[in-house]
Formats: sequence, C-alpha cells, structure tokens
Amino acid sequence: MNKEIKSTINKVKQSRNISLEQLKLLLEINDDEGVRFIREEAVKVCQKTYGNQVLIRGLIEFTNFCKNDCYYCGIRRSNSQADRYRLTKEQMLDCCASGYQLGFRTFVMQGGEDGYFTDDKICDLVSAIKEKYPDCAVTLSIGEKSKESYKRYFDAGADRYLLRHETADEAHYKKLHPEEMSLAHRKQCLWDLKEIGYQVGCGFMVGSPGQTVETLYEDLQFIRELQPHMVGIGPFISQKDTPFADKASGTMEQTLKLLAIIRLIHPHVLLPATTALGTIHPKGRELGILSGANVVMPNLSPVNVREKYKLYDNKICTGNEAAECRYCMENRMKSIGYEVAVSRGDYIE
Ligand code: SAM
Repeated sequence: MNKEIKSTINKVKQSRNISLEQLKLLLEINDDEGVRFIREEAVKVCQKTYGNQVLIRGLIEFTNFCKNDCYYCGIRRSNSQADRYRLTKEQMLDCCASGYQLGFRTFVMQGGEDGYFTDDKICDLVSAIKEKYPDCAVTLSIGEKSKESYKRYFDAGADRYLLRHETADEAHYKKLHPEEMSLAHRKQCLWDLKEIGYQVGCGFMVGSPGQTVETLYEDLQFIRELQPHMVGIGPFISQKDTPFADKASGTMEQTLKLLAIIRLIHPHVLLPATTALGTIHPKGRELGILSGANVVMPNLSPVNVREKYKLYDNKICTGNEAAECRYCMENRMKSIGYEVAVSRGDYIE
C-alpha cells in the first residue's frame, strides 16, 4: 500500500480531523490493500467503544404525505404517482408492541412533513409510546419545525431527532431543493434540537447529483462543528418519478469509504449501515458494519404500507414482516461476528 495513504489515515485518526487534500487522497484509494486498511482501522476505532455490538432501531414510516418537493425524493409533494398513506395511532402502537417483543428498545418515527400530524398529535403519540414503553427511546424524524415545536415533542418524551442536513454547501443545497427550502434553516433546526437537549443526528446522501469532494469536505466540517450523536449517510438512489430519475446513484465503494472516514474522525458517533446501502448491494449493511458503522434500522412498518414509502427505487425488505427483518438482521450480523444488542443503544461518551 502507498505509504502516503497509510500515514494520512493515521493522521486523520490521531487528529480527528481531515483536510481537503487528505479527503481527496482517501476518496481516491482504489487498491484492495488501501481499502482494506482504512476499513479495518475504522472497525478497530468503533470496537474500542462499542465492542462487537450492533445497535438496532425499529423504523416506523408513519406517513408518506409531504409538503416539501425535494428533487431527489420519491415522496415529494409533486409526485402524483405516490400512493399516499398515514398510519393511525393504534397502528403505530401495534408496531411498537411487536417491535418491543422482538427486542427493539428504540422506535424511530419517520415521515414526510405532513400537516395532518399537528404538534398535539405528535406529542400525544410520543407520550403514549413513552407511557407504554418507559424503557425505550423515541426518535423523531419528521423534518423542519419551529424550536417551540421541537421543545414540545421533547417535553412529551422524545429523546432523539434525525434530520439529515443533506449537504452543507449552499450551491449544492440549491441543486437538490426548490427555492423555498434553505440550508440555513435546516442547519438552524439542528442547532435548536441540540440546544433543547435531544440526541441529534445529521447526515447526507453519498453521490447525490452535484456532490463533489469539496461539498463532502464541507459536510465533514459541518459535522465536526455540530458534533452530533449520530450521522446518517447512505447512497443516493434515483427514483423513477422524480426530477432526478435519470441521475446516477451513489456507489457502495464511496459510501463505505465515507463511513470509515467519519468513524476515524468521530470514534463515538452512532453510524448506521442504512437500508439504502443494503439496496445497492446484497451485503451492503454487513460491509457497512465492516467499515465502522454500528447501527442498523430494520423496518417495523406494517407490510401493506412498506411499498408506499418509496424514497428511491428497488428498496429492500418491502415484503417482509417485522419479525422476519429482525431475525434476518440478527443472522446477517452473526455471519460477520457481531451481536444485535437488546438495549436503547445510547451514544457512549
Ligand atoms: N421528512 C423528514 C426529513 O426531511 O428529514 C424525514 C423523511 S426523509 C424522506 C428521510 C431521508 O431520506 C432524507 O433525509 C434523505 O436523505 C433520504 N432520501 C430521500 N430520497 C432519497 C433517495 N432518492 N436516495 C437515498 N436517500 C433518500
């Protein structure tokens, strides 16, 4: 392996920082030995804190109505092909009940920005889940809201919030989103969430149209500044009914390298091997864990709506029951020497 690559990886690991030149070099590694080295280093760093435990979260995709029109997303408001649905509170509580039985101790409530779910409804839902399952964490991922709304959800019991920043570069943000959306507002939401006391997750898609090494560098700088508890990254995958239908999807190789780089810079961060990664490669999630990721999010949504939460094409696991996904995940993790933890899976300082 090239000596420069090895010493750069060590420098990034030691300094917990990366320069633009170092990022360029690491993203261009293309020899097997170099790729293996960066991934193994990332795994070692991760195992120091989390051992061989993979943390699981049960994902409940509770609405695919959305007022936003992000160019990449299959549930954007202009997609007239999307078959819209909302789960009832009872359906969501049923998902939690089966999830709890299966060993999930975190429920991630994700959806489009759907005005039907007023703050009162969200608070009512969060408190109902927390009342039934006080030993579980509730994560919300429902987009940009006012600080007051975030505070209300927090007071109702929400523990964590996922809001990918999508890209930290102003011009790139504009290529991905319509005029009415702003990067400044999205970033402000993340700062507000942090200030309120949530465990916060930001993140971005790998290979989104217009992404460059420079925009990725800005992403890494923003993540260093924000110091989130979680960073969600997965490949961009085109969706046939969006303006980006013909754009190339992100690659597994770049996603794995970026997972490893983020792990080297942030030894303690919660880093999911996403469903999108599992969609572009049959062993994507296992390879994600073997590149420094430590979280997986099997789906707990009712099978009859899975197909409808189509952010991108060919999404996996749309026909499987929650139990199948849960045990499939356990077997997948066992096959690479990891154990699925039955715990809330909090951030370890
Ligand atoms: N509405 C909430 C929000 O904006 O954070 C949560 C739902 S949103 C659909 C969840 C994430 O899906 C987005 O942050 C985005 O990164 C990801 N996503 C959307 N379209 C995608 C695509 N075509 N490929 C990969 N990921 C996608």
